[in-house]
This record gives sequence, structure tokens and C-alpha cells, in this order.
Amino acid sequence: MAQPAAVLFDMDGTLVDSEKLWTIALDDYAAHRGGRLSQAVREEMVGSNMTRSMRLLLVDLGLPDGNSDIATAASWVARRMTELFGEGLPWRPGAQEALRRAKELGLRTALVTSTIRPLTDLALDTLGHESFDVTVCGDEVDGKNKPDPEPYLKAARLLGVDPADCVAVEDSPTGVASAEAAGCVVLAVPCEVPLEEGPRRTLRDSLAEVDFAELGELFTRAA
Ligand SMILES: [Mg+2]
Repeated sequence: MAQPAAVLFDMDGTLVDSEKLWTIALDDYAAHRGGRLSQAVREEMVGSNMTRSMRLLLVDLGLPDGNSDIATAASWVARRMTELFGEGLPWRPGAQEALRRAKELGLRTALVTSTIRPLTDLALDTLGHESFDVTVCGDEVDGKNKPDPEPYLKAARLLGVDPADCVAVEDSPTGVASAEAAGCVVLAVPCEVPLEEGPRRTLRDSLAEVDFAELGELFTRAA
């Protein structure tokens, strides 16, 4: 049975329960501007990058969404997220063990996140900088953020592997779309937003259930 060439992990909602922290920061920003973020728009942001999320947020609040408005909102939210990340990042169930098992099996690993580098580096203090062979952040893909395939393609390029030989671990529809467009097989573990089964994806309730030996079967099924 073929082992994957690498396991490519999303961060927010997949390895750490940070989507709830993003919700706090976004709600705080909305309150700061005298408004309230709608649930539907919040769900649309899950798995998105900062620029797209800020545009959605400002439009939802009925505020101007020019480039400078977006930049100002992004730096406010990033500052609030830095405080929240600094208070400690909760792991998603089984995520810590999954990272450890991947290493024990000698699998190459990447972190592929829509979150910007400064916040990701803070999160890596919890995740372990040594947990990943490469890391790709939301501000390192020339604006081609998830659901564009580029973040996963870039991680595969940096690892020197074929994306079709990789398993991506994702929690959001946006992230799953990105990984599948890159040609990866997907292990989908929904967090805030429900996900459906698909021809190149396997759905799990939690990373705690995941046996990495099963990943080979994903390729057999996808072939
Ligand atoms: Mg995610």
C-alpha cells in the first residue's frame, strides 16, 4: 500500500481551534465600528485569507471597503488576534497526536494556512516549529489564496513532491476546494462548517480517529 509522499495540514480549525478566536476578534471589530457581523457572512469567511475576510466584514457592516479601509481593518483584527493567540491556542481533538504519528512514520509534513506569517509564527509556538518541513502562509502566495490551488501547489513544490501523492487535512469548504484543485487527496475533518463526502475526500469526525495507514487507501480509492 502506497504511503503518501507528504501530509499537508491546514491550521485554523484543523490543528487548532482558532476559528473561535477569529470569531471573537471579528465580533470585537464589528462592535468597535458600532455594528454586528452576521452569522452567514462569518461562515463565508472560514478558511479565507485576511483581505477577503475584511472585505466581507466591511460590506456586511455597510462600511466602505476600499483598499485602505481593508488594510486598516486587517491591522486592527491582526492586533486583536495577536492578543488572543498569545493567551494560548487550543488544539483540535487528536491533532497533536496526528502530527506526532506523521513524524513517527517518517512522513514529510507541511503547514498550509491562509493566516498571515506573523500570526502563524505565534501559532507555531504551540504547534511546534519542528512539526513541519515547510510552512506556507496566506501572505506568501501572491494573492492566490484558498480556494485557489496555489497554497497547496506551493507546499508540494517546496517539498519537492507531486501534489497528487499528498494528503491534505482540511476543515473548511474553501480549504477542501483548494486542496482538491491542487490534485491532493483530502482528509476532511469539519469544525465550524459542515462538509460532505466527495470522490477524492474522506470525512472524519476528529483527527483522533485517524490511522495514517488508512491514507494509502485514500489513494487507491482516488486512482
Ligand atoms: Mg481551516
